[in-house]
Amino acid sequence: MDVFQGQNILSFIKELPNDESCKAYLAKIKWSEGFICSKCCGTKGCEKSGYNYHCYGCDHVESATANT
Ligand SMILES: [Zn+2]
Repeated sequence: MDVFQGQNILSFIKELPNDESCKAYLAKIKWSEGFICSKCCGTKGCEKSGYNYHCYGCDHVESATANT
């Protein structure tokens, strides 16, 4: 994965064919180590359609594209 670090990630994302692919890619990066809620730092949740994650701890729905 060294190839995809730093600026290379940005240029890589720009070349993705559509928004859906971009979200899928971001979700893969963001939660590659497992889900972590940005509101309560909880790690328990379930994946929703559209690359969102629902936190069981605080009911926050985290988007794959948030804070990126
Ligand atoms: Zn939470």
